[in-house]
Amino acid sequence: APHRDVDVHELLDSTLLMLSGKIGPRVTVVKDYDRSLPEVPAYPAELNQVWTNLIDNAVAAIGSTGHDGTLTVRTAREGARLLVEFRDTGPGVPEDIRSRIFDPFFTTKSVGEGTGLGLDICWRIVVNRHHGSLQVESAPGDTRFQVLLPLTSPET
Ligand code: ADP
Ligand code: MG
Repeated sequence: APHRDVDVHELLDSTLLMLSGKIGPRVTVVKDYDRSLPEVPAYPAELNQVWTNLIDNAVAAIGSTGHDGTLTVRTAREGARLLVEFRDTGPGVPEDIRSRIFDPFFTTKSVGEGTGLGLDICWRIVVNRHHGSLQVESAPGDTRFQVLLPLTSPET
């Protein structure tokens, strides 16, 4: 399990800054952070990849509507875990594919637009490497990918 304590808000801000060109002017980013949350034991480069993949998907989902949209990044405490939620105003994940989106190579995008590896990588980093969980709640116009990370190292 990871031992380095990471400030998730600092990490989220740096990922958002890195992706600002890609996010573009049609997506409004709203930060809804609970700044009183403590640091978490984590591998920062790996979490940066998780944020990147989830933001990439959210921006693509909003882009597919042809309208402007909002990406809300929220943090909160959920019991002994820290929640990082990426919420987008895109079309949503259709019910019939929801159980498959975390599978490697599952994609609804055309060749060159998506490899279908983004969520598989997120799953492996969050669940296997950080002993956290990754879940999705989705309705048209309101899709939330939720990352839950233990606030303390499991073996301590
Ligand atoms: P890729 O982005 O390369 O298609 P991912 O593993 O990142 O692969 O995502 C798999 C699929 O899950 C996407 O093709 C899409 O159908 C669905 N998906 C992921 N994120 C979202 C989202 N925010 N809104 C709607 N659908 C999504
Ligand atoms: Mg993706």
